[in-house]
Amino acid sequence: MRTAKRIEKLPPYLFAEIDRKVAEAKARGADIISFGVGDPDLPTPQHVVEALADAARDAATHRYPSYTGMPEFRRAIADWYERRFGVSLDPDTQIQPLVGSKEGIFHLPVAFIDPGDVALIPDPGYPVYETGTILSHGEPELLALTAENDFKPDLDALDEQTLERARVLWLNYPSNPTAACVGLDFFTTAVEFCRRHDLLLCHDAAYTEITYDGFVAPSALQVPGALDCAIEFHSLSKTYNMTGWRIGWVAGATEAIEAIKRLKTNIDSGIFDAVQRAGIAALEGPQDDLLATIETYRHRRDLLCDGLKSMGVIVEPPRGSIYLWVPVPEGHNSESFTTYLLDQADIVVAPGNGYGPSGEGFVRFSLTLADDRLEEGVERLRKIVT
Ligand SMILES: *Cc1c(COP(=O)(O)O)cnc(C)c1O
Repeated sequence: MRTAKRIEKLPPYLFAEIDRKVAEAKARGADIISFGVGDPDLPTPQHVVEALADAARDAATHRYPSYTGMPEFRRAIADWYERRFGVSLDPDTQIQPLVGSKEGIFHLPVAFIDPGDVALIPDPGYPVYETGTILSHGEPELLALTAENDFKPDLDALDEQTLERARVLWLNYPSNPTAACVGLDFFTTAVEFCRRHDLLLCHDAAYTEITYDGFVAPSALQVPGALDCAIEFHSLSKTYNMTGWRIGWVAGATEAIEAIKRLKTNIDSGIFDAVQRAGIAALEGPQDDLLATIETYRHRRDLLCDGLKSMGVIVEPPRGSIYLWVPVPEGHNSESFTTYLLDQADIVVAPGNGYGPSGEGFVRFSLTLADDRLEEGVERLRKIVT
């Protein structure tokens, strides 16, 4: 059997070796503490589960859903944008539901990247921006995010030739994996840059609702003129602990949404209507579970930051996301430190270089584990680090 060349062009899956080692450790009975995956451990709000159960009993939800999503769900998204960001969107032309935002992120280059076109991609960043680009025969141009530039790309450093071939700019704040946050001023700069260079700004806003210490994350669509050149990907996954449900959306520039719609009618057949009804319940129902979720993560963030600090590892508590981005100790790189933690302490973290070359020298801790496990993890770290 011969696989297509595009499969060979995909970067190696860095986590495969770690997965193998974790499986090995578990087989010998090790008590693994995982800070590895960013998959919320808290349950979906009960009223959302009830909405799904009710909807699933209604045979009207059992047939093919609409390609463009339920009008009521798109209306709920538009209302949420208005309430949350003061952004007015037309539910018919500026919003498209997605089978999880990853689906739309992966497919975006199919609609916007021709062979040889460039996509500007944050490094480190969510790997799907790059793999989607590669599978569309585009060229990823990695924008290094470093502590020195507050994990923001230096757009002015891009040369003219690259910019001429560039079609899209990906951004993601609050960021996975760096946990960096930006204010509206940065999006204003980015929108202006994209208008000047005829780029589509694609903002991945998966974590805008998970923020701390009074910080309220902006939407890129709040920038005046953004609706001409920007789209934003959103998801119920992190906000409402719904990673398993596969429901998200993309909103913004009409022309871009139109192209995505056209593409998607040829790929999938929409989201189960019962899941969309549950999505409406999530957006329009009581938000106390979200507040409790944020408080849980904040507490864990502080436990981990304080624990690391007591070992001499200073990590500024991030204002958003569910991650800590932690520099590795002297003499280690991302992979060696990840292996060291697993071998010496049965602790799993995500190696920073798995998110791009500029992630080298860091590991990512996810806050998606119970307090007692997190505390046990900190104690184990203390034993081997100090
Ligand atoms: C979790 C995550 C997503 C997407 O999640 P879906 O479950 O596919 O909606 C998108 N971007 C980033 C950066 C994420 O961390």
